[in-house]
Amino acid sequence: MSHPSLESIRRLPKVELHLHLETSLRLRRLVERQGGGSTAFEPHLVADPAKFSGYDRLRRLRYASRAGKIPNELYTAENIEQITYELLEEAAAHHLRYVEVRVGGRRGFSLLGATRMLEAMARARARAEEAFGVRCGFIMTIVRERGPEEAEQRVLEAIACRECGVVGVDLAGDEGNYPPTLYTRALGRAREAGLGITVHAGEFAGPSSIWTSLYQLGAARLGHGIRAVEDPELMDYLREHHVTLEICPSSNMRLGLVSSLGVHPLKTLMSRGVPVTINSDDPMLLSTDLTRELHLVAETFQMRLDEIAGLLQTAVRAAFVSNEMRSALQHALR
Ligand SMILES: [Zn+2]
Repeated sequence: MSHPSLESIRRLPKVELHLHLETSLRLRRLVERQGGGSTAFEPHLVADPAKFSGYDRLRRLRYASRAGKIPNELYTAENIEQITYELLEEAAAHHLRYVEVRVGGRRGFSLLGATRMLEAMARARARAEEAFGVRCGFIMTIVRERGPEEAEQRVLEAIACRECGVVGVDLAGDEGNYPPTLYTRALGRAREAGLGITVHAGEFAGPSSIWTSLYQLGAARLGHGIRAVEDPELMDYLREHHVTLEICPSSNMRLGLVSSLGVHPLKTLMSRGVPVTINSDDPMLLSTDLTRELHLVAETFQMRLDEIAGLLQTAVRAAFVSNEMRSALQHALR
């Protein structure tokens, strides 16, 4: 059976749920394009994941990939607006109809303040919707290592900035040393305010990290979550409660969680009825995009175009949107 071509997948209308703004990478590219730097920027040459292990691998990879310090002066509202606009322009080129963009960089928030940062992103959101018809929601990323107090502050900022398009909160960072229980209070407040909850879990740590994310944080979605495959009872729970996994194939491979896509738990999770979606995570860092990720999956698992479209419908079901918007998206992706 021949799998669908890259172009036929690119043309499919899409929804993406797990995409980081990659603030410093995009700022760096922006100034280099404006003539602010001379060296060609190739993140995949800078970072060598083989040098790192465990969670540390992720942190070091990201750090190393940011090659060089980004001066504070680059964190202006204008630049934040511009990089958000560019991200949405790229999304539109891949026929994204709706995308949830995560942002959590400490420097942006501490230098500009959450309100100015998110207002700048909201301006880009409005411009991109007008220019390309792409809709977008923002997810506030909370980094575990920064502790429960900062988590709570971020949640309050997210709630205060809902008008800017914040639709949810994401817990990310070191799963092993910072268990979900530390963030019960912060995420509880987000949930009470009606924000969607997604947690990076079951990526480096095993099923217990997922169970606590579900029971103590009320996660509706899991960033990665692929280690759920180790626990049949957990897979049943995810299926029965419609907890959706945001799977990012290239990210999982680059960080050494799986040696190749052929042995990725995706197929097993799908056959057990676990809702799964495909995402690009950090597309600039990983030199990828959603079309490529879907094509990789189609090629590896011999999937037809309608099966790929099915994965995109799962993303619509799990998006942090109103029922009205969900029906509109379901229609647009049909
Ligand atoms: Zn992520």
